[in-house]
Amino acid sequence: MTQSIYSNYPPELSAAQQKFLVTAVKDWAIQNGLAVRPSPAIVPAGTDQNGVLATNAPVTLFPSPFPRTCFDEATALQEIYNELYASITCNEEWLGDIVKGLIEVDDFVANLWKVHLAVKKEGYVQNLSLGLFRSDYMAHVSATGDPALKQVEFNTISSSFGGLSARVRQMHAEFLTSPPGPSINYPFHPLLHSEVPPENPAVETLSSGLARAHEAYGVSKSTPALPLCVVFVVQATERNVFDQHALSEQLKKVHNIPVFRVASVDVLEQTFIPSDNSARPLLYRPPHSPESTFEVTTLYLRAFYSPDDHTSSRDWDARTHLERSAAIKCPTVLNQLSGCKKVQQVLAEPTGLDHLSAFLKGVDPSLIERVRSTFAPQYDLSANSKGRELALNPETAMNHVLKPQREGGGNNIYKSDIPGFLQSLPESDWMGWVLMELINPAANAQNVALRNDGEVLRGDVISELGIYGTILWEDTGKILHNNHGGYLLRTKGKEVNEGGVAAGFSSLDGVLLF
Ligand code: ADP
Ligand code: MG
Ligand code: MG
Repeated sequence: MTQSIYSNYPPELSAAQQKFLVTAVKDWAIQNGLAVRPSPAIVPAGTDQNGVLATNAPVTLFPSPFPRTCFDEATALQEIYNELYASITCNEEWLGDIVKGLIEVDDFVANLWKVHLAVKKEGYVQNLSLGLFRSDYMAHVSATGDPALKQVEFNTISSSFGGLSARVRQMHAEFLTSPPGPSINYPFHPLLHSEVPPENPAVETLSSGLARAHEAYGVSKSTPALPLCVVFVVQATERNVFDQHALSEQLKKVHNIPVFRVASVDVLEQTFIPSDNSARPLLYRPPHSPESTFEVTTLYLRAFYSPDDHTSSRDWDARTHLERSAAIKCPTVLNQLSGCKKVQQVLAEPTGLDHLSAFLKGVDPSLIERVRSTFAPQYDLSANSKGRELALNPETAMNHVLKPQREGGGNNIYKSDIPGFLQSLPESDWMGWVLMELINPAANAQNVALRNDGEVLRGDVISELGIYGTILWEDTGKILHNNHGGYLLRTKGKEVNEGGVAAGFSSLDGVLLF
């Protein structure tokens, strides 16, 4: 990685230039829905009782440089990654073996598996599954100094920020090109002005996946036939609503599909399965229009990925109710489980068992090796294992992160905290965690972020790239649709361990390829 690319990027801003740019970003964000509902930390309790306020999403003022070779490779591998995770989901026995190793130590995983077993016992009535995936990477600086693409994780549920990341790209691109002529928004810099950030069709990709599932559902299974719709299952307290609206708007306006939002806590009240219909269609009665009933073709889960969404047995009943219905799930419980960090660790294990080739039968071996080379070393923590040794030694722990089977950010343990944390847990619980070597991205880049409370931060940053993909498949493994498109760049201070925009660690960013 060439030091010179970064050495004076982004351009320095005078106080007046920074004020101008921050105002431009703040206003552009609200004008264009690059926004989130404010957290209680920003709006004190009682100030926004009617929930009318919105603020800019945390966002960088400049797009960040990202190596073109890594960006292109991540894009090139997305469809094969889609296929890999569809294939894992189809192999209930293999996945079940992994899950069984977690059941004793992880109630959340155990309960998900119970939902699957309950529906399996009754019999699944939908053989199609939809994946809206995001594969996350960093550009690792290898010993030779060249950047190498390394996967942070693969997300199979609630892969978010497609809507907002497309808008960040639009904002940076507009600031660079509008008005025509020398940029009045940014001081000149050769890297910044060498090209416009790459197109970001995340909204088109993700909504096309949902539309494809809607179409594949076929005709109504009700008598008389009911109008069909897509339902987004969301968290009642969701703040990232505009990201989700970007997808539902596209579904409504471009694909002409009715879309409704149902909070996870309202699922059992607002949806039902008629007991006299063995096809088990999922029916939805909008509370604002109780005389109309829709049949749900596709359920897009932006909830139920965390134990926080499952606070009572009623939430688990709701999840089982959705899973047993004829709606196409994005994701199914099995597909959600395939996204466990443990699965990623087992895939990366150099045990001699080549899981990757087994799941990608018929795929060009050189392509499989390219997927494999994106894995960073990962270990389990069984007795006498290398993972346990690395985790408990304070020196080697410094180069690692410890991950539980969770999504949504804020769950990992880092570096020097690892040995003490493990020792605070009963040894029997250690198998619920995986140890991963830290990816080491170039940290000599800088950027300026406007946080959603208006704070402006400038400093050394590191970035994480996500690539979106969609896949629709039958439980036999037959693939009906496999596509990729669009990206997310999240950037955080280099001293920050965690990632995640919603979790409050990163800012949305754009990409400048070099
Ligand atoms: P989650 O599913 O909660 O998002 P991740 O595996 O993505 O879990 O971890 C959260 C964050 O931790 C990432 O966004 C990244 O910033 C950091 N992280 C995770 N794994 C690594 C790694 N191997 N090297 C460096 N940072 C990592
Ligand atoms: Mg995740
Ligand atoms: Mg993540």
